[in-house]
Amino acid sequence: MSDIINILPDSVANQIAAGEVVDRPASAVKELLENAVDAGASQIQLILKDAGRTLIQVIDNGCGMSDSDARLCFERHATSKIRKSDDLFAIHTMGFRGEALASIAAIAQVELKTRLHDSELGTCVTIEGCEIKDQAPCNCSKGTSLAVKNLFYNVPARRNFLKKDTVELSHIEEIFRRVALTNCQTAFTMHHNGKMLYDLKAGNFAQRICSIYGTNYKERLFPIQESSDVVEISGYISKAEYVRKTRGEQYLFVNDRFIKHPALSAAIEKAYIDVIPERSYPSYYLKLKVDPSRIDVNIHPTKTEVKFIDEHAIFAILRAATKKALGQFTIANELNFDAPADLPLTPAPDGYIPQAPTVRINTNYNPFASTKNESRPSYSGGHSESTFTTRNEDASKWTDFFAPAKTELPIIESPQATQSVAFNMDQTEGSDIDNACFQLMNRWIVGKMKTGLLLVDQQRAHERIWYERLLNRNRTVASQQLLFPINCTFTPADADILTELMPELASRGFEMSQLGKNTFVVTATPTGIREESLQEILEQILSDYKGSMLQKFADRDQNLCKTLAKQMAVKTGNALQQAEMQQIIADLFCCHTPEISPSGKRTMMILKEKELEEMMR
Ligand code: ADP
Ligand code: MG
Repeated sequence: MSDIINILPDSVANQIAAGEVVDRPASAVKELLENAVDAGASQIQLILKDAGRTLIQVIDNGCGMSDSDARLCFERHATSKIRKSDDLFAIHTMGFRGEALASIAAIAQVELKTRLHDSELGTCVTIEGCEIKDQAPCNCSKGTSLAVKNLFYNVPARRNFLKKDTVELSHIEEIFRRVALTNCQTAFTMHHNGKMLYDLKAGNFAQRICSIYGTNYKERLFPIQESSDVVEISGYISKAEYVRKTRGEQYLFVNDRFIKHPALSAAIEKAYIDVIPERSYPSYYLKLKVDPSRIDVNIHPTKTEVKFIDEHAIFAILRAATKKALGQFTIANELNFDAPADLPLTPAPDGYIPQAPTVRINTNYNPFASTKNESRPSYSGGHSESTFTTRNEDASKWTDFFAPAKTELPIIESPQATQSVAFNMDQTEGSDIDNACFQLMNRWIVGKMKTGLLLVDQQRAHERIWYERLLNRNRTVASQQLLFPINCTFTPADADILTELMPELASRGFEMSQLGKNTFVVTATPTGIREESLQEILEQILSDYKGSMLQKFADRDQNLCKTLAKQMAVKTGNALQQAEMQQIIADLFCCHTPEISPSGKRTMMILKEKELEEMMR
């Protein structure tokens, strides 16, 4: 048999390589934008025609190239970014080195104009399918302009596979946004078919987000910041009330590169799970800093996937940081996007020495002495005391909102407030009148604050209170023995599930055992549950549980608590006593996430004086 092996000509080899680097206009855009950033540009323009099919041009004011570099940069493995093998690890974080321009030149007609900052004259190179057609001195601005014309002109298969212009353009926009979000100090513009689509001035991360997505993002996001040995997290996440129905604006950057990481995204979404409605998704713009040597390098470099050696730790830290940020910021706190991303707190006056809050317990407090509403069991169930003491730290941040009723409840005295000065409730020592609230339509509790008016949805608020109480694993929920045990019967499938759920139910105050195959006898329930609806409640728990098995991030314990909280909460339509209303407000402000119900609805609203004024105009 004769020899059959040929060495491929460079032009063919480059075309093959091109397929890996450039598969659609957006990937050429990515390479050109990144080169412009690498060149130290402070101003980058992207100009497109026909979604990049006809023209992709990137103009920068970066360092520019010498005459010979302008030719060399189109050679394969031509790069100024690796000199020694030590630099090679950069390949793993930055994509293939020295491949991009060679690849693009193999599948398009390219015109490069470039001038070094200290040269009088620039140089213009035209190249087509890897062949240099022309090089001549030219007049051009400092920096580089690279125009890619008729992409895939010599690869009809690829060209035919391109999607509609709108689709290709949206891919390009996504790349543009990712690059713009990682380089906030650089100004960017983007034009398509003569129309300007983006005009982004240099600024900080928050300003960049707003200039891309609109200034109303100011109200939608709050900052997140966490520092630890394995990862540093900073950025912005959406407030619970601004989540979206699709997973749109979710950006994770690791060491200034955009990445996709389903597990880390799940960590963030998990933190939201009890404060947003089902099937809705938070937006986030998060920057992670990780030691590059703790990133697994065995991953395709042009792709956006990354593997972390400390994935578990990063997952836990990210989830906790998100939860913390969610709890820390309330609807009342608006983010100041022009200021650095710190907590928007009022600083303490000079010389102010903070004191630890103290808890004063009323030893005469008798949970059974409270006036009960005949139509339903008392909701306080004696839990409020422990809520206050275990949540002391959290509570202190809210005490200025509302001091609990002083006649029969434990009282938290906070040192002179500096954190939430704006929310000070009207309070005069010893006077209950100041905490007085009233009920509107057996549905809302209306309270008075120094800064305005407080409106609380009684049912939603109480669901939140119960939910957090139930979730708090450190405390077992008080249980009441039933005078007469109750038998509940289920379908065989439901009975199986219930058996499985029994340990969780037990820790929430249910005492039950299996009687027959499908029958259970319940001997105790959490305090506050109505005996006559026991069967119904258990069925609700089962149905919520079955529903949640289909959801990716659902936590079965959280779901159980959600269902129970719904059962225990006072309902719209229940008339409330003064003390009960005050208790609800006090308990609500001790919650981690007071402003959102477990099913993601708003629990309360504060109408500030200014807003009231507006309304009265
Ligand atoms: P890489 O960026 O991985 O080095 P490229 O093929 O993208 O590989 O670019 C090759 C080289 O061309 C770069 O290393 C850089 O020296 C030069 N270069 C490309 N684009 C620009 C630019 N916009 N400004 C200055 N130099 C550039
Ligand atoms: Mg490059």
